[in-house]
Amino acid sequence: MNPADFTQAYAKVARADGVTILEGVTVTGFTKTDGRVTGVVTDRGTIECETVVNAAGMWGRQLVRSPA
Ligand SMILES: Cc1cc2nc3c(=O)[nH]c(=O)nc-3n(C[C@H](O)[C@H](O)[C@H](O)COP(=O)(O)OP(=O)(O)OC[C@H]3O[C@@H](n4cnc5c(N)ncnc54)[C@H](O)[C@@H]3O)c2cc1C
Repeated sequence: MNPADFTQAYAKVARADGVTILEGVTVTGFTKTDGRVTGVVTDRGTIECETVVNAAGMWGRQLVRSPA
């Protein structure tokens, strides 16, 4: 199986279900209130959210230590 095609197939289904996928965006940190994450800070602004899935692979540990 070609992993790139496999991933694109997942993305296609997610988009069809209403998911927005932003590409070429760098996450620089997170906003927090009372110890809970309330937003993802990116080079294109902050996205408020209730839940974050850290899928940054081997950079994931470094990313959660980033200042907002
Ligand atoms: C040389 C090599 C060969 C491999 N071969 C195989 C193989 O044959 N079979 C196999 O099953 N596995 C293989 N692996 C392992 C496989 O690549 C990983 O297990 C898999 O890619 C992990 O997927 P992931 O989505 O968790 O993380 P990744 O694929 O690492 O994705 C993390 C993403 O997060 C992005 N990111 C990181 N920081 C930020 C940030 N601050 N803002 C925005 N984006 C960010 C990165 O750009 C990246 O696109 C190989 C790995 C390597 C290095």
